[in-house]
Amino acid sequence: AIAVENLSKRFFRIQALSQIGLVVKEGEMVALIGASGSGKSTLMRHIAGLERGDAGSHIRIFGETQQRDGKFGANMRALRGKTGVIFQQFNLAARLPVITNVLVGVLGRIPAWRGTLGLFTRAEKEDAIAALSRVGIAERAWQRASTLSGGQQQRAAIARTLMQRSKILLADEPIASLDPASARRVMDALANINSSDGITVLVSLHQVEYARVYCPRTVALREGRVVYDGPSDALTDAFLTELYGAASEELV
Ligand code: ATP
Ligand code: MG
Repeated sequence: AIAVENLSKRFFRIQALSQIGLVVKEGEMVALIGASGSGKSTLMRHIAGLERGDAGSHIRIFGETQQRDGKFGANMRALRGKTGVIFQQFNLAARLPVITNVLVGVLGRIPAWRGTLGLFTRAEKEDAIAALSRVGIAERAWQRASTLSGGQQQRAAIARTLMQRSKILLADEPIASLDPASARRVMDALANINSSDGITVLVSLHQVEYARVYCPRTVALREGRVVYDGPSDALTDAFLTELYGAASEELV
C-alpha cells in the first residue's frame, strides 16, 4: 500500500530523513518508533502527501506515484483522500458536536458544493453513527467534541477516517498523552479497523510495549534513518536502550 524509496529531507541544517526505504503491504499494522526528533512525524507527513522530499525521493501509494524528486504526482489529491491522518492532539473542532466532526470525513468524497452547504444526507449521518459505534462511542455523538476525554477524541478521529473511507491510516502518537486504559481502547480501535476493514495502519508510538502487543512489525528510526525493520517481538532491550539512549541518559 505504501512504498517509500530513498526518501531524504533536509530542513536548512537539519537532515530530518536520510534515504528512507519502507514498504508497507496492504492490511499490515506497523509501529514506528524512535527517540524524539528521529523523524517519525516528518516521515508520516511525507507519506500523507503534506510534504515533499528532496531530489531522488520517491513515494508510491497503491502503486501510483504520490511524489517523485520533490514533485507531487498528478493523482496527488485522490491519493491524499485514501490516506487518513490522526495526530496526538488538535484532531477535532472542539465546539462542534462529535457527529459533525465525524461527518467532516465525508467531505473528502462528495462534491465541494454539497459539503459547504452543510447538507449531509440521512444515510451519511447513519454512517457516522455506525462509525462511532465501531470505535465504541456512539452514545457520545451529540456531545461537543471538547467534552470528550482524550481517548474518546482519538476514537472520534478514527471514526472520521472511516467516514473518509481511507485505505491507509497514519496515526502519529495517538496515545502519547493517554492513561493506559484509554490508550488500550484507542489501540483496540486501530487494531479493529485494521483487521475487520483491512485498513493499513502505520502508528508511531513512544511506548514500545504497545508496539509489541498490537503491531506484528516495528520500524525504528534514528536520526532520520531506518535502523530496525522487523518483528516487534524480536526487539531486544539492549537495542531499545541504545535507540533511546541519549534521552535516557539525560534523565539520569
Ligand atoms: P517526536 O517524537 O518529538 O515527535 P519525531 O520523531 O516526530 O519527534 P520530527 O518531528 O519528525 O521528529 O523531527 C525530525 C527532525 O526534523 C527534528 O530535528 C525537527 O526539529 C526537524 N524538523 C521537522 N520539521 C521541521 C521544519 N518544518 N523545519 C525545520 N526543522 C524541522
Ligand atoms: Mg513527532
